[in-house]
Amino acid sequence: MAFLRTLAVLAAAITLAAPAAALAQAQAPTQAKAKTPLFEPWIDGTSHTEPRMQVQRYDADTYVIRQSIRTNFEGPFLYLLFGRDRVLLLDTGAGGLLVRPTIDRVIADWCAEHHRTAPLPLVVAHSHSHGDHRAGDVEFKDRPDTVIVGWTAPEVAAFFKIADWPHDVVKFDLGGRVLDIIPTPGHHPSHIMVFDERTRLLLSGDTLYPGRLYVPLDQFGVYRDSIDRVVAFTKTRRVSHILGAHIEMTTTPGKDFPFEAPGHPDEHALELPYSDLLELQAAAQKLADKPAYDKHNDFIVFPLPPTPPAKAASPAQPAK
Ligand SMILES: [Zn+2]
Repeated sequence: MAFLRTLAVLAAAITLAAPAAALAQAQAPTQAKAKTPLFEPWIDGTSHTEPRMQVQRYDADTYVIRQSIRTNFEGPFLYLLFGRDRVLLLDTGAGGLLVRPTIDRVIADWCAEHHRTAPLPLVVAHSHSHGDHRAGDVEFKDRPDTVIVGWTAPEVAAFFKIADWPHDVVKFDLGGRVLDIIPTPGHHPSHIMVFDERTRLLLSGDTLYPGRLYVPLDQFGVYRDSIDRVVAFTKTRRVSHILGAHIEMTTTPGKDFPFEAPGHPDEHALELPYSDLLELQAAAQKLADKPAYDKHNDFIVFPLPPTPPAKAASPAQPAK
């Protein structure tokens, strides 16, 4: 039942593209190349009138939100997934704007639509804790009925009850909607992917997206093992689309935008087909022993110098 509608968020600070006629989004063939765009065109930084955030409703209980490149060159994507008992926000943006008013409004609209008067608990989690994915955490610190997952791998493992990090895949139930939390260190030690059993979307964070997949030189083996585990997990599931946290590729195969580009004209689609995960797996296996810059049509594996140990503290409100 995947269909696309654009959510009309009417906050003054938020303007959206004209509502889409509900696209007849036929169920994508299993793990086949995606051809029909899943989303309306995303804000891409090329218009000075574009909103600071753009919300698109993927289905009745699933929202994808982009932060404008004009507020931060990273232009990250955030995901809001609703269940009967709680709602999950995956990532809080790169800073340079307030994200909570938009999130609160979407939650309020969803609750009104569902005639829900009791508060809907919010879980704020992260694909990983690089600054461009958790800068908005501070806005949620004092929000009622809200828990913020910590930033380190042990905190993420403790919150989701992952006993054997990074080998265990655990279920996280939003209430009638089960997510699978898949530890995927490599790009960052606390990285997770999230598979939604309802939509069959694989939310892949910075581990796989149409752009530069940064991997510290000393983490290529860890990264390869993570990709291998994700592929093993998906062997018994059908992945509809892979949705990551950024777009840095153009519509020209293998061509990325310059670093910190202020606008992304002719930007690649957000969604990637399942075949890209298999292509990345083959690349990661090859590169693990000999890390190198490795260009593909939809992504570029990009080695980085080893990262010094992180000193970042977790948010004031610890994970519960
Ligand atoms: Zn990022």
